[in-house]
Amino acid sequence: MLKGNGVSAGIGFGKVVILKKIERKIEKKIIQKDQVGEELKRVHEALQEVICETENHMKNITGTEADIMQAYLMILQDPSLISETENAIKNSNYNAEYAVEIGLNSVIQIFENMDDKYMASRARDILDIKNRLLGKLFEEESIDLTKLNPNTIIVAEELTTSETAKLNFNNISGIVTELGGENSHTSIMARTHMIPAVTKVKDATKILKNDDNIAINGTSGEIYINPSEEEKQKLIEEEKKLEEEKVELEKYRGKESITKDGVKVKLYANIGLPSDAKIAIKNTAEGVGLFRSEFLYMDSDIMPSEESQFTAYKEVAEIMEGKEAIIRTLDIGGDKDLKYLELEKEANPFLGYRAIRLCLDRPSIFKTQLRAILRASAFGKLAIMFPMISSIDELREAKQVLEECKKELDNENIEYDKNIQVGIMIEIPSAALIADKLAKECDFFSIGTNDLIQYVVAVERGNEKISKLYTKYHPAVIKLIKNAIDGAHSSNIICGMCGEAAGDPSFIPLLVGLGLDEFSMNSNSILRARKTINNLNSEECEKISEEIIQMSSAKEVEKRLKEFMTNKK
Ligand code: PEP
Ligand code: MG
Repeated sequence: MLKGNGVSAGIGFGKVVILKKIERKIEKKIIQKDQVGEELKRVHEALQEVICETENHMKNITGTEADIMQAYLMILQDPSLISETENAIKNSNYNAEYAVEIGLNSVIQIFENMDDKYMASRARDILDIKNRLLGKLFEEESIDLTKLNPNTIIVAEELTTSETAKLNFNNISGIVTELGGENSHTSIMARTHMIPAVTKVKDATKILKNDDNIAINGTSGEIYINPSEEEKQKLIEEEKKLEEEKVELEKYRGKESITKDGVKVKLYANIGLPSDAKIAIKNTAEGVGLFRSEFLYMDSDIMPSEESQFTAYKEVAEIMEGKEAIIRTLDIGGDKDLKYLELEKEANPFLGYRAIRLCLDRPSIFKTQLRAILRASAFGKLAIMFPMISSIDELREAKQVLEECKKELDNENIEYDKNIQVGIMIEIPSAALIADKLAKECDFFSIGTNDLIQYVVAVERGNEKISKLYTKYHPAVIKLIKNAIDGAHSSNIICGMCGEAAGDPSFIPLLVGLGLDEFSMNSNSILRARKTINNLNSEECEKISEEIIQMSSAKEVEKRLKEFMTNKK
């Protein structure tokens, strides 16, 4: 049996498909004159293969998907697509791989800069074509992620956002990765799609082989290779329990989120991709409390344009049909890298050049995003949230950039929501400590416990060796949460929480007692959280929170809160 971290609950039985990481190093080589013909031939053959694959794929699709692929095919068949590439081989004598890289990058740029929205969004298709052509030139063995057999368990070192986004989740019964923590984008997506997932499984891609029959437990993190009858039976029992819980939770679909004595709270969803908003609605989320917009950036090999971001935010606004959706501005850096930004390596990335710090330092990136969000705000109820705010000056500076964007749009006669709400994440201790001051200058708070905890107790959030010390039950963390909520309320603004702690049934009574107004969590935790809230009494919660605030040990806090919930059952 292998063991890792269970990051998405559920039991999965299936056959292994190993996804090997492709390390592609594109070298610039100068070829001999007599090799030009051969290099051109290689590019044409690669292109022809991609065209054939696309035509074959089109035989099996209809409707909108077929229309999209028809447009894709037209691009492939347009001779101008590779004219730059051909020139780079003929005139500069570059090798085929390098010529494709620079040739298609220049086409991508041309499309990106087009005013026509439809044409601008075709840049992504060309990027995809470039990757496929390079894949052919490097003779990479590629697995078509959209066409996996039913009951596949994906095993990889790590999955990229775009790989995860391509997966046909209907056919996936589990995900196993060697890297990636509970809050990595793959884990979050797995939870959103209710796919059992286990991360941090050492050497999984070496120990497991393609077509191995395995079973995984996304709660305990256990992986059974060729499970025995007894093991299977045990897992089936566990699956049954999970199913029963699901049926029980159905009662809470679409219900109000209100305590027994009438205290209403907002139950929102965290999303990573625009389409996740559909899952939020399916789980009867009352809004989106956190759209991690960096996923749009991580899902691309180039900086997403204003146009493509506008399309994404507008999609969220429209899916939410008037319900609030809070878009968090770019939170990159720390553990989230963007290759095309070419960020310098830092000794302490979590204390470094990330999120709002990077955005304020590179206003053109920030403004592109803010303009896109503002424009999309004309199509629904969007709000803007700045991550990693540590001081009032930073908040003022960010708001100043936002004002500039509003002015630009006014001058261009472009519509946006003039009353768009602007909030901040409280995830740095300095912000939690001056919450009352910050509250005077913004419209809402959302506490990011994932980061707040790491900064309060000085424990890196993904560091396994010290993970025992990373705990939301630490009295210092709770004190800062209380300070943030009280600070918000002193200026009559709403205080939410979008860190993982907001969805933990053992923590919810404390948060209700402290007066948290909005709980934002993974879509699949919503019904369970609503059940928890609907079975609470706010006075009881206040009492327990007063008791907890007096405590000095994290262990005792945890024990007391868990006891409280057990007694409720
Ligand atoms: C947090 O820090 O709690 C949070 C919600 O943001 P992220 O996990 O994306 O850093
Ligand atoms: Mg954070």
